[in-house]
Amino acid sequence: MNVLDTLLARNEAFATTGFSADLKIVPSLKTMIIGCVDTRVDPADILGVKAGEAVVIRNVGGRIEPATLHNIAILSAVTTASGGKMGQGWNLIVLHHTDCGIKPCLGHAPELLATYFDVPVADLDKLAINDPYASVAVDVAALKANPNLSGDFMVSGLVYDVKTGRVETVVPPALLRPTESTGC
Ligand SMILES: [Zn+2]
Repeated sequence: MNVLDTLLARNEAFATTGFSADLKIVPSLKTMIIGCVDTRVDPADILGVKAGEAVVIRNVGGRIEPATLHNIAILSAVTTASGGKMGQGWNLIVLHHTDCGIKPCLGHAPELLATYFDVPVADLDKLAINDPYASVAVDVAALKANPNLSGDFMVSGLVYDVKTGRVETVVPPALLRPTESTGC
């Protein structure tokens, strides 16, 4: 059996036993996770995220780059069109991990990463590509600095260790843009 046949057989089993037609397009946990494409770090596996619970955007490194922001903007519009509102009560989780393939790419093809992040090669150092514990903080800061995102998102940064299977909260949850006190 070739790979496609194997996957189609698994789909048949899913459609027969694991499928629910009642799931909604707006995630039940009001959560968006931005993580890496690495096969070892699927939030469905490491965080137990089930179908219908969370939006997951996966790219190389789980990074906040221009396309990520475009995706979030479109997802926000989709949520609005579906009768919801992204922001208050929603979690925005950045999930980076150890042994990420983006690290060797930095030495091998930095120009590719510069294009990916839409920055000059000389500015790649600012993105902490070599260190997931630093890069997750860089990306949470990038989200907090983005005026186009709802300030009501609860934002956090996690790092998954591929050697232990454990996730560490590196940037504790906080409002994307805490509202300034107006009282006295
Ligand atoms: Zn990775």
